[in-house]
Amino acid sequence: MKTVQLKTNSREQTIAFGRLIGQSLPPGTVVCLEGDLGAGKTALTVGLAKGLGIRRPVSSPTFTLLIEHEAGERGIPLYHFDVYRLADGESFLELGFEEYIGDSGICVIEWSSRVREVLPAASLEIELRFADPEQPDTRELKLSWQGHEDWLAKLAADWVSGAGSATIAKEEQ
Ligand code: ADP
Ligand code: MG
Repeated sequence: MKTVQLKTNSREQTIAFGRLIGQSLPPGTVVCLEGDLGAGKTALTVGLAKGLGIRRPVSSPTFTLLIEHEAGERGIPLYHFDVYRLADGESFLELGFEEYIGDSGICVIEWSSRVREVLPAASLEIELRFADPEQPDTRELKLSWQGHEDWLAKLAADWVSGAGSATIAKEEQ
């Protein structure tokens, strides 16, 4: 599967990349975010909300599991989950969260691997990693999205032409 890989060198740059995603992400998309504590999952979501034209502040749903944001300029609501505290997909379903999946809003799910089995197979997957202990503000991002390779390629091209750098890597499967 084709993946897009890039680095950001500051929180602001991760937010800028999130904004670019939010500017063209189709309604109804589920975004799976993976990465350790402090990797930048919430920062990326802050940017994504900006790209959707949502003006209210986006904070972490760590304690509430879900924060709903009303639609902004793009007319698409954002459902921001942090499912770190959930044991499995069953708990996700018990809380009635499946009604958000398949809604025309965009679902962003931090720590998605906890509940991955109840999320659509073809979700936008974004992994954030600390790049190097000597570069504490650098993160490596890896994106994949089954069936949406063209969208990913355009995103990478837009990022390269605007700010930062991205490389498209073909992964063997
Ligand atoms: P998570 O939601 O993955 O736990 P947060 O977005 O809440 O992560 O926090 C990321 C932390 O890392 C913030 O304190 C932010 O300032 C810092 N940071 C440093 N460099 C970056 C970067 N390149 N991208 C995102 N955050 C960064
Ligand atoms: Mg977070």
